[in-house]
Amino acid sequence: MTDKPDLRRVLSFYGVELHSQRREQSVNCPVHEETRPSCSVNEDDGLWHCLACGAAGDSWSLIMMKEGFDEFRSAVQFAEQEFGGSYAQGKPDRRTGGRRERGAGFRPAFKRQRILS
Ligand SMILES: [Zn+2]
Repeated sequence: MTDKPDLRRVLSFYGVELHSQRREQSVNCPVHEETRPSCSVNEDDGLWHCLACGAAGDSWSLIMMKEGFDEFRSAVQFAEQEFGGSYAQGKPDRRTGGRRERGAGFRPAFKRQRILS
């Protein structure tokens, strides 16, 4: 699973509080004004979907929609500032081992020393 900011936290940042620990629940949509909750949130999957305006996504999509970011990298920077933590993207050498940049063929810059035992 990709590293992403906690959806509950991001929703709360935008003024939408999840009510319970239930897996799925409906809340007021974070991206359009409404008085009756039509946005369904699944915390286990980290996904949300508004039945009224059709907006949907995960915590990244929400940040990008709310902040008007065009680039995913901006959302990552924003999340690191606002929510703390490090989300690996844009720093290919950490944790993901360069997965985004170089795919499965990623090779370390130097040959690994063989350990003779
Ligand atoms: Zn909506």
